[in-house]
Amino acid sequence: MVRFCPMPIVNICVENIKKAGLFIMENNNEIRVIEEFKGDYRFLSNFYNKSDFEFEGLTYHSSEAAFQAQKCSTAEEKIKYTEVTNPVVAKRMGKKEPGFPSNWDEISYGIMKRILMAKFSVPELREKLKATGDAVLIEGNKHHDNRWGKCMCDSCKNKEGQN
Ligand SMILES: [Zn+2]
Repeated sequence: MVRFCPMPIVNICVENIKKAGLFIMENNNEIRVIEEFKGDYRFLSNFYNKSDFEFEGLTYHSSEAAFQAQKCSTAEEKIKYTEVTNPVVAKRMGKKEPGFPSNWDEISYGIMKRILMAKFSVPELREKLKATGDAVLIEGNKHHDNRWGKCMCDSCKNKEGQN
């Protein structure tokens, strides 16, 4: 079941949605929001590792591992990420990648999009994603990530989530 999010978050969502021109609003109160990728919606998280998928010829256990692997320039270097089952470990490894592209901030959105297209082409995940219908999907978090999600803490509550 999709939950309704509290009004302040709805307002933020509505602003973003209007800006993006993605959603025709009929009634503020009827916008459905999935505000955390937990429980039934864990599969939406990049840290979900229960469904392997292929991306550009390599099979990864999580979209986080696939994403961090893209900081490497060669296929040989990327292979180590296909062996990582724990996405937390993949994230930590990615932070230490020596070949980290200097324009990573700029190119990483496109990379993430392509990875998620690959992830959600797995039939089971595609069906689950389709079942969320027109709900707004927000990676609500508590670690101040307002780039890939929306932090719900008090000091971030007025910041806008960017993705
Ligand atoms: Zn925060």
